[in-house]
Amino acid sequence: MSNYIENVLAKTKEKNSNEKEFIQAVSEVLETLKPVTDKNPEYEKTALLERLVEPERIISFRVPWIDDNGKVQVNRGFRVQFNGSIGPYKGGLRFHPSVNQSIMKFLAFEQIFKNALTGLPIGGGKGGSDFDPKGKSDREIMSFCQSFMNELQRHIGHNLDVPAGDIGVGAREIGYLFGQYRKIKNAFEAGVLTGKGLEYGGSLARKEATGFGLIYYMREMLKANNLDFKGKIVTISGSGNVAIYAAQKVTEYGAKVVAMSDSNGCIYDKDGIDLDEIKRLKEVERLRIKEYLKKHPTAQYTENVEGKTPAVYSIKADIVLPCATQNDINIQTAEIMVKNGVIAIGEGANMPVDIEAINYFIKNKVLLAPAKAANAGGVATSALEMCQNSMRYFWTFEEVDKKLDEIMTNIFKACKETADEYGLGINYLAGANIAAFKKVAAAMTAQGII
Ligand code: NDP
Repeated sequence: MSNYIENVLAKTKEKNSNEKEFIQAVSEVLETLKPVTDKNPEYEKTALLERLVEPERIISFRVPWIDDNGKVQVNRGFRVQFNGSIGPYKGGLRFHPSVNQSIMKFLAFEQIFKNALTGLPIGGGKGGSDFDPKGKSDREIMSFCQSFMNELQRHIGHNLDVPAGDIGVGAREIGYLFGQYRKIKNAFEAGVLTGKGLEYGGSLARKEATGFGLIYYMREMLKANNLDFKGKIVTISGSGNVAIYAAQKVTEYGAKVVAMSDSNGCIYDKDGIDLDEIKRLKEVERLRIKEYLKKHPTAQYTENVEGKTPAVYSIKADIVLPCATQNDINIQTAEIMVKNGVIAIGEGANMPVDIEAINYFIKNKVLLAPAKAANAGGVATSALEMCQNSMRYFWTFEEVDKKLDEIMTNIFKACKETADEYGLGINYLAGANIAAFKKVAAAMTAQGII
């Protein structure tokens, strides 16, 4: 590592010592940038990295709401507007009890690079709350979303900051958030949120985009290494939006998905997962994945044990798609997976594999599709939704899907060409970081010290 990078990292760690996810995300990026910073001494003169790791703005706010028992509840809301140098801040909202400033900053930081890789004009942001939607009634969800938007509306706008969904924020929540925004502003500004319902300005294929995009990226990655999906056994962690549509597309390409999970445990169905049943359980009924056994009694269910490798990763598979949450795969889990003969990992979630495990996979010649590139299909299609909203027009499913495929193919190309240029082999993570950084650094440099 160069001295400049080492110094910036040391300062970042000192200043944000209680933010472990944020430090992890910054380290993962900066540690790969040495070849670029060595060639460009002006970055140090203009404190470019110091500016890059400091958010332009962090908003933190109170979200009071009333539960079904008439009791007042108070949650904490966030919006991190990290870097707007290539476009309006763009990034999802996460509602999960684990949400804190460190997780918000890590996600917003990753988003800067992800959004740059899409080739579309969007900056990096993220937001959310420590609100737990699990077990809440529809009325409680609406009450929370309305209160959250009462404050958030001051800070967003179609030319300023455009939130979308993430963990715990799907079509239902976006609907309530948009409704409240529209009421407060007394205007129909469709481009202020993405992931909207099709009836009021949403884009076809947005729901499928992150999962489909992951598989398009992996198709290109496998092809570049003389492999494909046909006949491969696939396991997926998670059973939410990303997991479901990754499962659908990879099945279309001839692979067999044998396991999916939620935070409680995992189901294994050797005949291949019945995805229609998963969609019913998760998208409609909002039940635990264990309920799968009621319709498929021959499948097996394994409960997760706190502090132990999540059950889904102990199942033998050629391809593993972590599509749940961050830091799901550590070195111990990676060792199990390598022993089981895994050939490729696709990061559908953000930062699901920690850096030690990533390096272990690369050393063992396991292909790794890095999150900030491989799961960029969601935000890319969100940008296409903004584009359709500006035109006051819409594209067909096929048109959006084709654009998404082209974007993901180009993202892989950028990762591979950069990895080749810098002699990084199959380290597509370093390729992604460098390609994205160069674009953001050029935009920041052009705009002066701000
Ligand atoms: P959903 O809320 O739809 O689904 C999340 C899934 O992950 C659920 O199955 C959930 O299980 C599981 N999960 C969540 N937290 C944990 C946890 N702490 N431990 C174990 N399992 C957990 O979210 P998405 O599918 O939208 O998001 C999944 C990942 O993909 C996240 O990392 C997100 O940041 C990333 N991502 C999402 C994009 C999108 O367009 N939606 C775009 C790019 C990235 P349970 O129900 O039990 O909590």
